[in-house]
Amino acid sequence: MHSLYTKFILGYLLFGLLGFITIATLSSHFTSRYLIEDKAGILYDEATLIANTYSTQYQGKNQDLASAYPQLQAVATFLQTEIWVVDQDGTIIVDSAFDKVGTVITDFDPTATGNNVYTTGRYFGLFPYDVLSVSAPITGNFQTHGYVIMHLPISVVQANSNDILNIVYLTCAIVFGLSLVILLVFTKTVFFPLKAITKAVNEYASGNLNYRLKLDTNDEMSYLAATLDYMATELNQMENYQRNFIANVSHDFRSPLTSIKGYLEAIIDGTIPPELQNKYLNIVIGETKRLTKLTEGLLTLNSMDGKGFLTRSIFDINHVIKETAASFEGTCSTKNIVFELTFVEPIEMVYADLGKIQQVLYNLIDNAIKFSHPDSVIYIQTSPRHEKIFVSVKDTGIGIPKNSIKKIWERFYKTDLSRGKDKKGTGLGLSIVKEIIQSHGENIDVISTQGVGSEFIFSLPKANN
Ligand code: ADP
Repeated sequence: MHSLYTKFILGYLLFGLLGFITIATLSSHFTSRYLIEDKAGILYDEATLIANTYSTQYQGKNQDLASAYPQLQAVATFLQTEIWVVDQDGTIIVDSAFDKVGTVITDFDPTATGNNVYTTGRYFGLFPYDVLSVSAPITGNFQTHGYVIMHLPISVVQANSNDILNIVYLTCAIVFGLSLVILLVFTKTVFFPLKAITKAVNEYASGNLNYRLKLDTNDEMSYLAATLDYMATELNQMENYQRNFIANVSHDFRSPLTSIKGYLEAIIDGTIPPELQNKYLNIVIGETKRLTKLTEGLLTLNSMDGKGFLTRSIFDINHVIKETAASFEGTCSTKNIVFELTFVEPIEMVYADLGKIQQVLYNLIDNAIKFSHPDSVIYIQTSPRHEKIFVSVKDTGIGIPKNSIKKIWERFYKTDLSRGKDKKGTGLGLSIVKEIIQSHGENIDVISTQGVGSEFIFSLPKANN
């Protein structure tokens, strides 16, 4: 697989190469053509000027052209050209370089330039190298007496063209260099972060959710990285939570099942004598009740997870508290525990899910009784504040150790203190309570001191009259 970066670099280099070839070919072609035409124009103007001078001399019938030599040579040197004056028959009568005077140009055809005012080549084989030639007729009295022909070596034009091309190439190199800087910036801001993100995603995909992804580019890349990192943390937490959850569920199911199996086997094989069987069968029933409670608790939590659908109605919370407390009469009398109910208003109408709030009260009162000492009082209070009714369930029992306070809302959590005292607890009661209160959009809090007691306070929305 070619990485995006390799493709990009290859593309970039290819683009650079093709761009350079195109620019080099086109610019060299156009520059040469432009320079030749430009030079030809200049030379033609000059040749015409000289032709006019000779025209007057011809008209004055002054055939001695020697007097014009110094001026002709000065112009020739200045323009780096060779200047000839050729008569009608093609005989060179004046040559700024002297060496071709008297030479007859075979097949001389002054119109050979076609549409252009110039020709390029070796000019009838008279030069060993390529020249640019222009010719201007010497006219007078409606006759052509001869021609002024100027030759410029193509190498001079080529040298000029090379100077210009060097500037073009240098500009190209600078542009290419600048784009290289952009490429480096791209590498740092896009490619490296992308590589880091890909590596992290691969780590996550292979199950290493502890891998941390940190980018400090302060742009969309670092935002994406932070989002992925957050996703991995959440997934990790969820995975841990699920692992613990399953471990707890299997543990909590296994212990009652083990004791049920043990007692039943002992009854069948006669280890437990018939007169004691009733006692142990009652224990078995107790354990099955615990299993039922556990299953119900899990089912309730499961239904709450999906933002459990609430069936709200308007009811008197004071009345519900009285009813729920009354249902604990039996348990209370064995431990000699009494309730003290305090209602600021005799009737307190709230808008909530009656069945679920009954369950909240049931769980809180059940805990309060379980963790209270015998012969104590449980205080239940309701008080209105603004748009809410606050319900408090307070006991003077064993309390909750400071380091456990936050954990009591977790599923299956039991404090070490309570483990010894309450073997039947599932550790699900308070998680259910919290889920129910939160699904109402309300809050629940606990104030507790180990050895002094605990108070659970939650809010409910007042019913609009
Ligand atoms: P459980 O079914 O075990 O009572 P909960 O979720 O209702 O489960 O409670 C979790 C733990 O919180 C309990 O095991 C206990 O350790 C602690 N707890 C709850 N309520 C009280 C209370 N009123 N007094 C002391 N500890 C409490």
